[in-house]
Amino acid sequence: MRIYLDNAATTPLAPEVIDTMVPFMREHYGNPSSIHAQGRKARAAIETARKSIANHINASIGEVFFTSGGTESNNMAICCAVRDLGVKRIISSPLEHHCVLHTLEGLDASVEVAMVKINKNGQLDYAHLRSLVESSDAPTLVTLMHANNETGTLLDLQMVAELCQANGVYLHSDTVQTMGHFPFDVEKLPIHFISGSAHKFHGPKGVGFIYVNGNVQIKPLINGGSQERNMRAGTENIYGIIGLAKAFELANKEMDSRRKQITDLRSYLAKSLLDEFADIKFDTDWAGESLYTVLNVSFPPSKNSDLLLLNLDIAGIAASGGSACSSGSDKGSHVITEIHGKTDRKNIRFSFSHYNTKEEIDLLLSALRKVVATKKVEMA
Ligand code: PLP
Repeated sequence: MRIYLDNAATTPLAPEVIDTMVPFMREHYGNPSSIHAQGRKARAAIETARKSIANHINASIGEVFFTSGGTESNNMAICCAVRDLGVKRIISSPLEHHCVLHTLEGLDASVEVAMVKINKNGQLDYAHLRSLVESSDAPTLVTLMHANNETGTLLDLQMVAELCQANGVYLHSDTVQTMGHFPFDVEKLPIHFISGSAHKFHGPKGVGFIYVNGNVQIKPLINGGSQERNMRAGTENIYGIIGLAKAFELANKEMDSRRKQITDLRSYLAKSLLDEFADIKFDTDWAGESLYTVLNVSFPPSKNSDLLLLNLDIAGIAASGGSACSSGSDKGSHVITEIHGKTDRKNIRFSFSHYNTKEEIDLLLSALRKVVATKKVEMA
């Protein structure tokens, strides 16, 4: 039996989601742009999915566009804001996901990018953000993630949205880690763009959505046919979209119970680690406000620490050293390096879903006892 504790990288598909998708793979294969019955069936299913997503975030259906996932949605928000809204200045942070950071790096040199300072807890320096926003004359976009995918640190999105609104600044938030885990109401949250990715809440990979506030007019990032009301060309990923909507519906319906279950598991792991193991630190504010699916643990340096993830994998436990997208490279985490500088401690991100159990956490703890110094060992 394998234990999966890497849910911030991706989540397993919910069985109910698979059941909803299968008929659209087997039978309802029409192209939604076709006018015959099969086409109309596919079109109707997509529009029902759009309505369901819009209802859950309190948007209108004309504000929700399907994309290939979080990366595309974030690229779209940033690139279209520059190209179509005349944005000349972008305020962001060095802790953003690479799909934001690399998009910013690729922008025309005439767009100024200002980075908000980070404090030693990995939190944004809000006073610095305020001064950057208030000192902006050029048309500006703020792009800041709602929750960091490696540490789970949360942004006070409502406060930032109100700050941007008061200063006439556009706001995009990469909400990929929080969508489906926290409630969203864009009637109450003054924001221009947010993004969602189905595979972070037990939906399929390669599909997501972007909310674009009805007051902003942008053009498509991907050109071609007139799909998605001329906003995103390409034949729609129908079964992906159906699965996305079903997964989002379940995530919203079960949000409170999932949250309680996951929060309890995370606290149990954090407390057990502190009780039993030597010199444990956390880069997640697990006892305070944070993305409840993530616990980033910093282990002290030891001869085994570089092999920690490998040893856990051999013991049947999947966890991660940082963002899944950079795990193929040896560079380490840009987030942890930005917060702590170069360190010989070893960070491991455990990330949970409602499918995890206390028994699994107990098995993780026994696997750790074999490779990490316990307090008893330290005293001996
Ligand atoms: N933004 C954040 C914060 C993420 O964690 C991820 C996924 O790792 C993405 C964006 C990219 O989403 P996707 O995998 O759907 O392209």
